[in-house]
Amino acid sequence: MPSVVIAGGGLVGSANACFFGQKGWIVDVYESRFDPRGNHMENGKSINLALGVRAMSTMKRIGLKEKVIHIGVPIRDQIAHFGDTKGKLKRLPVLNDDDFILTINRQELSQILINEAEKYNNVKFHFNCKATKFDLKSESLIVQNSDNLSTVDGDLFLACDGAHSSIRRSLLKAPGFNFSQKYSEFGYIDLSVNSTQQCDLKLGTHYSWRRRGIILVAIVNKDQSLTVSMFATFSEFESNLVGPVESVLFFKNNFYEIFKILGEDHIRNTIARNKPQAIISVQCSQHVFFDKLVLMGDAAHAMVPFNGQGVNCGFEDCLVLQEIMDQYEEDELEDVIKEYSKVRTNETNIINQMEWDVNLTLTSSVHGSLGWIREIRAHIKLLLCFIFPSSFTLAAFSREKYSEIARKAQIVEKCTSLFTNVFIVFIISVISLFWYCVLAVLWAN
Ligand code: FAD
Repeated sequence: MPSVVIAGGGLVGSANACFFGQKGWIVDVYESRFDPRGNHMENGKSINLALGVRAMSTMKRIGLKEKVIHIGVPIRDQIAHFGDTKGKLKRLPVLNDDDFILTINRQELSQILINEAEKYNNVKFHFNCKATKFDLKSESLIVQNSDNLSTVDGDLFLACDGAHSSIRRSLLKAPGFNFSQKYSEFGYIDLSVNSTQQCDLKLGTHYSWRRRGIILVAIVNKDQSLTVSMFATFSEFESNLVGPVESVLFFKNNFYEIFKILGEDHIRNTIARNKPQAIISVQCSQHVFFDKLVLMGDAAHAMVPFNGQGVNCGFEDCLVLQEIMDQYEEDELEDVIKEYSKVRTNETNIINQMEWDVNLTLTSSVHGSLGWIREIRAHIKLLLCFIFPSSFTLAAFSREKYSEIARKAQIVEKCTSLFTNVFIVFIISVISLFWYCVLAVLWAN
């Protein structure tokens, strides 16, 4: 049987282990951390993930769709509060009536995937084992277990070791490999609480509160706990949330609704304990090396999370690889890898860039002037989205190619600019005409 060696037993690595386990391959997964099915809590990561059609299609093919839906919470509605406005309940901008976003606890999802993969006798997870590098000479993986270094061979290597991938780092000397990373001006902090008994937030609704430079997102979980994430620019964190006392005051003055739910003690303790986490975006010019090593998930394309595409795209990587394998014989692995590189590298770089553009829009809304023009643009774009589905909708609720979504988004952008300019010229003309009439009347009198 052929063998696959997977570096990283996170979400994407485990999904790959399920697929190759199903196929009967010999699967070895090297994961630098402890087994997440123990009592340890994963630190420094968002607690919940929002899964759309791409992730759910992957779960379906693994055979986990129903299980995952049972554990998660389907979200169909949203309430967004901008500044002091009272938010209105709206449906998510779906493509079909039965579409939803599934929010699910990251650790639970990870556990389900590992359990599923381990059902196959041919799959083995090696926890507390770090994949330190890919050796370019021997074309094998170097693995560190306690103090021992060992070399692992395989027919296929999948680097799923996350945004700060060690495998990717060891490839930087590969000729022609271009790599770039950027940090967002935004960071995030988890403010989740165990109980929502005192509040009237509802299950199945995505809540957000936005103020200049700050986004608060809240979701009620099945056990009545509340997942709350706060995204803000680092300068905002440094000026307003510098300590527990300042933070309490800040929430009281700016986000009173969420302040009442979280409570003073919770805000004080969370801010004292946690630091805001950085958000990184990674782009690679190639995802495939030596026809046998593939970068996947965040290792290939970590992206900012404002439209929640990261793991959706990562899971889709696994699905696309399987879909390509379906079209080839088992001894045509080289062709499979070449085809994967052809269809996936550019696609994932496109969504990565689109997510970064969202980040730039958020950043410019913090720093930029001419806010009223942005407001007009935003309203016109919203109106256009009644006619054309937005790129968020297409990315979340379909498996349309990212390149196609980007092409459509460009058309919407051009129309938005055109209508905005026409609207501004119209307003200026009306104002000029008004003053012309006023002056004419005054002159006549
Ligand atoms: P990871 O989840 O990072 O897993 C990598 C694994 O590799 C880890 O288990 C790690 O321990 C292990 N590892 C690392 N180095 C090594 C090594 N050298 N050897 C062995 N093992 C190693 N995406 C969405 O689709 N929807 C969302 O709602 C969403 N929300 C997000 C919110 C935030 C705040 C952030 C930061 C991201 C969000 N994402 C979201 C993105 C999502 O978290 C990532 O895309 C996803 O975790 C990528 O999975 P992965 O398996 O590629 O990487």
